[in-house]
Amino acid sequence: MSDCIFCRIVNGDIPGAKVFENEHVLAFLDISQVTKGHTLVIPKIHKENIYELTPEISRNLFEVVPKIASAINRQFNPVGMNLLNNNGEQAGQSVFHYHVHLIPRYGKGDGFG
Ligand code: 5GP
Ligand code: ZN
Repeated sequence: MSDCIFCRIVNGDIPGAKVFENEHVLAFLDISQVTKGHTLVIPKIHKENIYELTPEISRNLFEVVPKIASAINRQFNPVGMNLLNNNGEQAGQSVFHYHVHLIPRYGKGDGFG
């Protein structure tokens, strides 16, 4: 989808700070990080929300999420991490290409929650 910002990152039309990439999945730093290392993990194929994911897309994505979380831990050394996925505008979704937020936590006053 050419009008989807995350598809444009997948295609290389606009830059993204890549954290991880394989055939099916891309992870990149959020443009406005709520904490240091805030990362988005997306399927390369355009799916709007969790309801549109097939079991295969879901499997491919969540197979690598723990690896990406561990890589973030190694690099940024947080004390915890939140995984978050907003589905629908009322739930806070602003980009309609499915994504999981990985939000490293650094303790009280880290800017999130
Ligand atoms: P949502 O609100 O849909 O759950 O999260 C969308 C996220 O995408 C937001 O945290 C926002 O900062 C991030 N975002 C929006 N546009 C871009 C972009 O062009 N590049 C990157 N890296 N992140 C983006
Ligand atoms: Zn897309």
